[in-house]
Amino acid sequence: MLTHWHWDHVFGMSEMKIPIISNKMTYNGIKQLQELSWEDGPLDQRVKAGLEIPFCADAIKKELGNDRDITLLDPDIQFETRMKLNLGGLTCVIEHVGGDHSNDSSIIYIPEEKVLFLGDCLYANLYADKWNYTIDITLKLIERMEEYDAEIVFLSHHNEPLNKSEFQAFLQLLKKIGYFTEKYNGDYKSIAAELSKYLRRELNEMEVETIAFFVNGYSG
Ligand SMILES: [Zn+2]
Repeated sequence: MLTHWHWDHVFGMSEMKIPIISNKMTYNGIKQLQELSWEDGPLDQRVKAGLEIPFCADAIKKELGNDRDITLLDPDIQFETRMKLNLGGLTCVIEHVGGDHSNDSSIIYIPEEKVLFLGDCLYANLYADKWNYTIDITLKLIERMEEYDAEIVFLSHHNEPLNKSEFQAFLQLLKKIGYFTEKYNGDYKSIAAELSKYLRRELNEMEVETIAFFVNGYSG
């Protein structure tokens, strides 16, 4: 199951040797990636043309080294909004949720275990001049996240899974910053001051960065 089309989530698909499920939009994203070369020249050209971001081009070069021969298969099973898989005593609920990070993002929820796999859906949009969150899309996504009864939550690029209270705190933080960004018309200093007052402490690096992403995405 592919959570979205980004290179770091699909380049290993030919190694999986199992039927691959993806959202229709993810499928279309992979069809486009199949046409591309990952050698330095074409990568640099795409960065220049604004089709690729330096962050990913650099990471691809670093991660792949000289082995740039990537086999991207056509996913075997496509869905549009939601599907359920019965794995024998375990159910996988797969749902398209979208979001700023990538509009094809889908999640997996296992009700029997109360486990939620989020992929990258709660991260910011990196495919922009400035990494950003937009208020409306993020708040809507959080509302959806709150519907899952999850005890363990996996975010792809977090080092550790989050437990229930950590996940709720993470959602709450995004929500608060979204509200404050609206309230202060995207003014970084006022948002930071209000959040610090609310948390009754200095802001940490992640909080500072998250405010910056909301400010970047604020359009008035
Ligand atoms: Zn991603």
